[in-house]
Amino acid sequence: MNDIEISQAATTAPITEIAQTLGLTPDQIEPYGNNKAKIKLPVTGDTKNSKLILVTSINPTPAGEGKSTVTVGLGDALKRQGKKVAIALREPSLGPVMGMKGGATGGGYAQVIPMEDINLHFTGDMHALTEAHDTLSALIDNHIQQGNALNIDPRQIIWKRVLDINDRALRQTVIGLGGRTSGVPRQDGFDITVASELMAILCLSKDLADLKARINRIVIGYNYDKEPVTVADLKVAGAITLLLKDAIKPNLVQTLEHTPAIIHGGPFANIAHGCNSVLATQTALKLADYVVTEGGFGADLGGEKFMDIKTPVLGKTPDAVVVVATVRALKYNGGVAKTDLEAENLDALAKGSANLSRHVQSMQHYGVPVIVAVNRFTSDTDAEIKQLLDFIHDTLHVPAYDTTVWANGGGGALSLADAVVSATAKSQAFNPLYQPEDDLMTKMTAIVQNIYGGKDVELEPKAKRQLKTFAKYGWDKLPVCMAKTQYSLSDNAKLLGAPTDFTIHVREFVPKLGAGFIVAMTGNVLTMPGLPKHPAALDMDITADGKITGLF
Ligand code: ADP
Repeated sequence: MNDIEISQAATTAPITEIAQTLGLTPDQIEPYGNNKAKIKLPVTGDTKNSKLILVTSINPTPAGEGKSTVTVGLGDALKRQGKKVAIALREPSLGPVMGMKGGATGGGYAQVIPMEDINLHFTGDMHALTEAHDTLSALIDNHIQQGNALNIDPRQIIWKRVLDINDRALRQTVIGLGGRTSGVPRQDGFDITVASELMAILCLSKDLADLKARINRIVIGYNYDKEPVTVADLKVAGAITLLLKDAIKPNLVQTLEHTPAIIHGGPFANIAHGCNSVLATQTALKLADYVVTEGGFGADLGGEKFMDIKTPVLGKTPDAVVVVATVRALKYNGGVAKTDLEAENLDALAKGSANLSRHVQSMQHYGVPVIVAVNRFTSDTDAEIKQLLDFIHDTLHVPAYDTTVWANGGGGALSLADAVVSATAKSQAFNPLYQPEDDLMTKMTAIVQNIYGGKDVELEPKAKRQLKTFAKYGWDKLPVCMAKTQYSLSDNAKLLGAPTDFTIHVREFVPKLGAGFIVAMTGNVLTMPGLPKHPAALDMDITADGKITGLF
């Protein structure tokens, strides 16, 4: 059976029962049908003794390497071991669902359900974010149309529009055509919703008041005197915040094995900060003893951003990191073409394993115990699995487990779960990568050298100019959110394995004052993806009686 057939054959427990396993009474949740609910805020509880496990990975192939799958399977395994556990995942974006990667609900027998709902419109958070974001866009253009009291320079508006679609035709647009009554013409463009600053803000807000305060701080562009214009200047934070009044509440669902899963917020890790919401993770920590969560893409992106951007806001650092590796992706990193990944190739595996070494070392830098989960595919041979496990034990000296959650659910990660429990039993000092008072250049260099394994950072002329003005506004000490390809440790997607001595090129910075960080755009990473030649949408269907096929 494929992912959707397994999901459709599953029986869900009523969401009130799942809530109950976390100690939530029916009046503490807002059910959306029988198997989904929003959790009402605030949730009370103590997070002191709860253990946080971060799942991250090596550089993936374009299909994803099973981080969500392992996150779900590990949660189920911990539950099978009698632990009180909650999983905290990101919400899928419809861009990749319709494009190449598919959904984000795990796979095989390690899935969150109902997968159709979660992967399609879920509880509407993504749409609320899109609406809120574009409402602000409309208010900006209306302000200019109605006399432009704030003297906004239409050529310097950085607040683009968004849609939750992969649509390359919208990257550069011209709006306001049609004469005096149809707005002021200007160049604009669309990002995908998950790259919206509002998504980052939602994921970093502590409550509704913090959400509104952060929205007020958003810089939408500059006036003709080159000074920043904020949402506070436009006086519309109230309207934008109220559009997010439900989206701010974490969503509760379950795994195939009825383990509670809180799925909330979904920024991409290549173009945004890549972690689910602080509110969801905090809620999970308050309600469960073990919380398994993930950062998007590899440890160079979601892993680093979890540690450097999310944990200072969360007020809790991970107690253990699980790095997911697959034989396929290591062979891909060892130079094997995407079409040949199923054939045994021990040499390419050995060569590509350097990629795993780099990610393990970069996570070890934070002083947190690291464990490797080898996510087994049916095409992996015993010889490949043995070679990889031997390499991890003998060369990297970290625990590693052959994990079969895709085929066996929680039963496929029992040893991994034991290792996680014992690793998290000891407390260890967290070693931050940089200090808050470091400037942007120091922070980026720390990331490039200690996490990517590169040499240095080079700023293109626009980025150089921006750094000077950022210092003027006091923005030069903010955390940095790198926008970089997920396929390579460098900013060149074709440089696989574990390259060294490379330079990261920053072409421009985007200030995200509401989120509280500066995005550094590297290489030619795009904030609005396109669809591939054969998008997943071509294989999707729904029958007259509502049965869905082709989602994965
Ligand atoms: P990630 O979170 O790393 O992006 P996912 O967990 O979403 O990856 O998995 C990506 C796809 O790979 C899913 O369609 C999932 O069903 C599939 N997959 C994951 N692990 C396995 C496995 N061990 N065997 C076969 N398919 C798998």
